[in-house]
Amino acid sequence: MPPKKVLILGGTREAAELAKSLNDSGDWHVTTSLAGRTKTPLPLAGETRIGGFGGPDGLAAFIRENGFDKVIDATHPFAKTISSNAVAACQTAGVPLEIRQRAPWKMQVGDHWTVVESLKEAAALLPSGSRVFLALGRQYLDEFRKRPDCHFVIRMVDRPEGDMGFASHELVLGKPSANRVAEQSLFEEFRITHLVCRNSGGMSGYAKIEAARKLALPVVILNNTADQ
Ligand code: NAP
Repeated sequence: MPPKKVLILGGTREAAELAKSLNDSGDWHVTTSLAGRTKTPLPLAGETRIGGFGGPDGLAAFIRENGFDKVIDATHPFAKTISSNAVAACQTAGVPLEIRQRAPWKMQVGDHWTVVESLKEAAALLPSGSRVFLALGRQYLDEFRKRPDCHFVIRMVDRPEGDMGFASHELVLGKPSANRVAEQSLFEEFRITHLVCRNSGGMSGYAKIEAARKLALPVVILNNTADQ
């Protein structure tokens, strides 16, 4: 029997691991879809397609035209539009949708978290003069530009074009490390006093939480239910 066709909505480490395991099984012909946010994504097992579909109708048409037997939503928990599009598109196309949602992190002994529901609340909580590590995507930075009294160390995968619009900032280019010691060294090198991040769950971004715990750093953490 020929392998069945699966479309993985990806962009996460978990999606890449899933693509590899389904591809290796020989039971599935795997296509992973990426939004195209990262300039040079790592190669994935199976086929890759890049770019938006043009909303739920475009995604439904893509599913039908390519004859997928199943769709798996393995996107980042904060990527909410594509997840709701996937629900609508799979209904329209009459194809089953499997949702692989990471569980959020839970606060542990030694963590100093302030959980917030919006980026505005996160920015307002930072004390004047603080040195803040922003582990957020570039689309989540606006509220922090309104705090010229803080210094921001901003981690991004790709170098941004043009002026960042911050009164005082430094860039750290690259993906988060999965190594707690590496994240701790980074926080120490930049004399970080506060970490701001989202509660994304999963292992790929957890080292920064462990590093903050080790250094007893206050963490301002955005809930997954948050209004971004
Ligand atoms: P989003 O707000 O949910 O989606 C915005 C639009 O981007 C969607 O309407 C869709 O465009 C397109 N899109 C998103 N994911 C796509 C995918 N996997 N394949 C094709 N098109 C996609 O998404 P986002 O928060 O910008 O995240 C974009 C991608 O980055 C996702 O794949 C996600 O897994 C990954 N990612 C996101 C974050 C994060 O913090 N949000 C972190 C790590 C990785 P159309 O409506 O035109 O189809």
